[in-house]
Amino acid sequence: MSIAELAERFEELYARAPEGVWAAPGRVNLIGEHTDYNDGFVMPFALPHTTVAAVARREDGVLRLHSADVEGGAVELRVDELAPRSDQDWTAYPAGVVWALREAGHAVTGADIHLTSTVPTGAGLSSSAALEVVTALALDELYGLGIEGPQLALLCRRAENEYVGAPTGIMDQTASACCTDGHALFLDTRDLAQRQIPFDLAAEGMRLLVVDTRVKHSHSNGEYGKRRAGCEKGAALLGVDALRDVAYDELDAALERLGDEEEVRRLVRHIVTENHRVERVVSLLKAGDTRAIGPVLNEGHVSLRDDFRISCPELDLVVDTALAAGAVGARMTGGGFGGSAIVLAEAADVDTITKAVEEAFAAAGFKAPRSFTAVPSAGARRLG
Ligand code: ADP
Ligand code: MG
Repeated sequence: MSIAELAERFEELYARAPEGVWAAPGRVNLIGEHTDYNDGFVMPFALPHTTVAAVARREDGVLRLHSADVEGGAVELRVDELAPRSDQDWTAYPAGVVWALREAGHAVTGADIHLTSTVPTGAGLSSSAALEVVTALALDELYGLGIEGPQLALLCRRAENEYVGAPTGIMDQTASACCTDGHALFLDTRDLAQRQIPFDLAAEGMRLLVVDTRVKHSHSNGEYGKRRAGCEKGAALLGVDALRDVAYDELDAALERLGDEEEVRRLVRHIVTENHRVERVVSLLKAGDTRAIGPVLNEGHVSLRDDFRISCPELDLVVDTALAAGAVGARMTGGGFGGSAIVLAEAADVDTITKAVEEAFAAAGFKAPRSFTAVPSAGARRLG
């Protein structure tokens, strides 16, 4: 939908013109999985897919929300009645942002919002963060709050954790708010220090495919909680604040100290090697050696599959098939048990790989996957 069409639809809904139009992207994580709740490193980049919102302020305490992607008319809420509750629908994400802004002491007195998104939902590509960040950025600018990207991301995470009730780390919102075109974002989730790392695939004749398996296994929430608890147990047994504090060259000694705690040992090994993999990818990209990150991505997948145990047959099939068809590297991305995988490939091999994955899914009796090429894109911004 063009900016003009979005503004037109806004006028039909609310009988007034919007004050501006903003966009915030979804993201894909290149490397650094499940490290965010261990104070570790992550490395997402923004997708070209965005959530776009036309917004205008209100002074009467009313918040009206409408999504072109959801059936029905605008939902009307009162900002002074917003409170975390369990019966949340999609409006909880933007309403949670207004709540978090007000909790932080910002005088947001209402808004009319109309939005639409090209970020696939529930595919592990963070359509929820895109929705939060676009709302936060629009209100920040309209109300002249002057909140910087990293702080805006923290407010959005608070909305998702406390208002929506979803336990996410800080990566998704930071990626949506702070990524830049042609770069991946190296983020230290302990002190939130960030560095933009050049990641211009097209210049290297390469592509990065995102393959959405279109499955989400129902036990994923419970399994996430178990992994998180297991990592905390590992940190406690090793006497550190977080697994981030176990250095890569101390891994063997740490594993020895964990003795027969087999499950904890596997979790610790994944987190420590994964943090190391992020650092390796950063050095390789800084050296301009993009192809050399392929094997590191592959190792990451094996670690998530065998040590962290959060892959699933669909994700493994994407990775195995893509590598057999000539991919430079491939791994599952996101929380696991479904969602998407990423495939790094030479531009000339993309069609062959995509076809091979589609055929393998058909042969296995899986739902047809959806693939697209992900160009590292800009973070949240004003469009008009
Ligand atoms: P992900 O962030 O991986 O896409 P989540 O479950 O965290 O998956 O967030 C998806 C939810 O975000 C949807 O179920 C919906 O409630 C909300 N959402 C995302 N995009 C939109 C949209 N364009 N319109 C309305 N709701 C949306
Ligand atoms: Mg999400």
